[in-house]
Amino acid sequence: MATQDELNEDLAKAEEALAQAKAAVQARQALTEEQALAVDLHEMQCHFKGSMDCGWGWEQDWKGHEHKEYLRKAEKMLAVTDIATARKIVRIYRGF
Ligand SMILES: [Zn+2]
Repeated sequence: MATQDELNEDLAKAEEALAQAKAAVQARQALTEEQALAVDLHEMQCHFKGSMDCGWGWEQDWKGHEHKEYLRKAEKMLAVTDIATARKIVRIYRGF
C-alpha cells in the first residue's frame, strides 16, 4: 500500500491533469467550427507535428503560417460540404 505522501502526490498529479484537460476542453469549445476543423486537419495531416519543422506549437494565434494554412484548408472543405460531414471524414481518416 502507498504511503500518505505518495497518495497525496498521486492526487495532486491527477488534479493537475484534470485541470489541464478542463482547460483544453474550454479552449477547444472557444474555437469557431472552421478553427476546430483546422486543428483536426493539422492533427491528421501534419507529418512534422511536435518537431522543429512544425510551427503549429510555436505560433501564438491564427495569424501564424501553419494555422492560416490549415484554416484555409478547413474553409475550403466547408465550402463544399457541411461541418458534420467534414467531421465524419476526419474521424474516418484518423481511424475512429
Ligand atoms: Zn504541423
